Amino acid sequence: MTTEEKIKALRDELREHNYKYYVLDAPTISDYEFDVKLKELQALEVAHPEFSDANSPSLRVGGQVTKNFETRQHTYRMYSLDNSYSKDDLLDWEKRIKKLVDGEIHYTCELKYDGASISLTYENGELIRAVTRGDGFQGDDITTNVKTIRSVPLKLKGNYPPKFEIRGEIILPLAGFNKMNEERLEIGEEPYRNPRNTASGSLKLQDSSEVAKRPLDCLLYSIKGERLGITTQIENLEMARSWGFKVPDAAKVAKNIEEVLDFINYWDVHRHDLPYETDGVVVKVNNLQQQEELGYTAKAPRWAIAYKFKAESASTILNEITYQVGRTGAITPVANLEPVELAGTIVKRASLHNADQIEKLDIREGDTVYVEKGGEIIPKITGVNLEQRPKGSQPTQYITNCPECDTTLIRQAGEAQHYCPNDKGCPPQIIGRIQHYISRKAMDIEGLGGETVALLVENGLITNYADLYELSVEEVIPLERMAEKSADNLVQGIERSKEIPFERVLFALGIRYVGETVAKKLARHFKSVDALMLASEEELMIVDEIGDRIAQSVIEFFNSQENRTIIDRLKVAGVQLKISEEQLANQTDVLQGKSFVVSGVFEKVTRTELKELIENNGGKVSGSISARTSFVVAGEKMGPSKRTKAEGLGVPIITEDEFLEMVG
Ligand code: AMP
Ligand code: ZN
Repeated sequence: MTTEEKIKALRDELREHNYKYYVLDAPTISDYEFDVKLKELQALEVAHPEFSDANSPSLRVGGQVTKNFETRQHTYRMYSLDNSYSKDDLLDWEKRIKKLVDGEIHYTCELKYDGASISLTYENGELIRAVTRGDGFQGDDITTNVKTIRSVPLKLKGNYPPKFEIRGEIILPLAGFNKMNEERLEIGEEPYRNPRNTASGSLKLQDSSEVAKRPLDCLLYSIKGERLGITTQIENLEMARSWGFKVPDAAKVAKNIEEVLDFINYWDVHRHDLPYETDGVVVKVNNLQQQEELGYTAKAPRWAIAYKFKAESASTILNEITYQVGRTGAITPVANLEPVELAGTIVKRASLHNADQIEKLDIREGDTVYVEKGGEIIPKITGVNLEQRPKGSQPTQYITNCPECDTTLIRQAGEAQHYCPNDKGCPPQIIGRIQHYISRKAMDIEGLGGETVALLVENGLITNYADLYELSVEEVIPLERMAEKSADNLVQGIERSKEIPFERVLFALGIRYVGETVAKKLARHFKSVDALMLASEEELMIVDEIGDRIAQSVIEFFNSQENRTIIDRLKVAGVQLKISEEQLANQTDVLQGKSFVVSGVFEKVTRTELKELIENNGGKVSGSISARTSFVVAGEKMGPSKRTKAEGLGVPIITEDEFLEMVG
């Protein structure tokens, strides 16, 4: 095989595995095998730029930066959809269209995916352009970013026409969205608001390698082109699927509005089981000839209508807007509402997110507002009833100074949130940092709770976490509600935290963007805080998954003289600021690149010890079995469904002893 053939073969192979994993959700090789092949391809491509290909699977990881997204004209206008909210609305629509076309009308019913619309152009089976909806006539060219979305085919399969456009929706599935938010919360950032906004925000990131990290997905629903030989909408979907696109199989043909309603009623209940959000159903006339006869209004096709599911919503009065300061100094405006019942709970507060949101909705104190509860946990305000606005009401002036310490707030370019920069003097920031330090996933200090931390700070006993180690029982006793016994417990709890391993101490320090996982990685790599403090940006970025944002934040943290003094004091106190000898001796790379799922009860080690063993030896622990799992370590009482899944995917199941042998 020549090098060129070898490169081509690898690309074909990777493309196929990619398709099986991301479109069919049925992978046939492990994560590790995939990575090995990908690395092989990347190495060959670097050595042979003459065989480059703008649609190589290696481009999925991104890397290109777009400074300005260019405007592109749509060949076929991207319309909006008319909405309906009831059976009557649908019957009215049916009546209208029956006057305009002859013959029986069948409908396709599809889910309405809640994301960002996209139009993809393919020529000779290759993706050449991806454009946002924009104003429907023209949108932004976001091709580089879209190429990183694994379920968007870069090259097609099957019998496709030489040139066409395909429409769909880029979505962020709930699992991925929640995971992103867990990570945000862990590093002290405001969570993202909802999957839809996060999906469309992600598409406009300048650095495509950042987009590549977001678990985006793309669901398609319509092909546009000349002489495609397609006669119905359902064929449209089947055709797209056969060329390698991801087309959900919920779609169905209904022979009349009654059947449409059956579909709607079914999905109104079952939509909560879907891995992504839908806000309704799209009903389309199935026959494309009839569609053409029906045509378009100024904004939307006459041949389609969206049916919107009802969100749980209520209206109430906004009494006051208050502002919260988080541990990183981020300011969150909060709506304090007249209590109202919504989806079975009493709602008193809703997040207003940031200044832009308040301005966009023009929310003012005293307004009657609409509150909704969607898939997210925190209720949101979706609008204002302007008719009930009190006379003389004034637009909300966003605060300019910190409500807690009066420092002038700052807002960095491109950031939605205002921040209080007074990190060393602003009480909620001081308290928040110490609360994070003592929290369960960090130093897990027993006998010390969040409220006591606040009390200690307010009484001037501590101002940072190093001060904890100098607290005495006598100092603590005079505090309100503090009995001798609990004062003892508190001091003992602090004493015991000196045993907490380095990786958790590193997480506890509360360095911005350094969550649990990143802390583990840094601890494993640098082994001590001293080595970490000396690391340059380049040295930090060598570590797997550490990008420039985290690297800069680490450097900034250790550049502060105050932080360095605190670290020195922790060291003197005896807190673990390096990996223990024992850990060091136990650390190997024998499981590098392997991913494990642990299931059941074990004899010689606990589950936690088993997981530690995996990580200490360079392996990854994952919660669920996929074809990318290298091994399942099975103990007693392993769940039967896990076993079936592992066997079905051909993932080897090993015993505790076999595992222990592996790591020696
Ligand atoms: P709207 O933005 O409310 O006017 O709704 C129209 C949008 O719904 C379209 O631009 C599509 O992006 C989106 N959409 C989601 N799912 C579908 C679907 N199955 N068929 C057509 N449009 C859809
Ligand atoms: Zn402040």
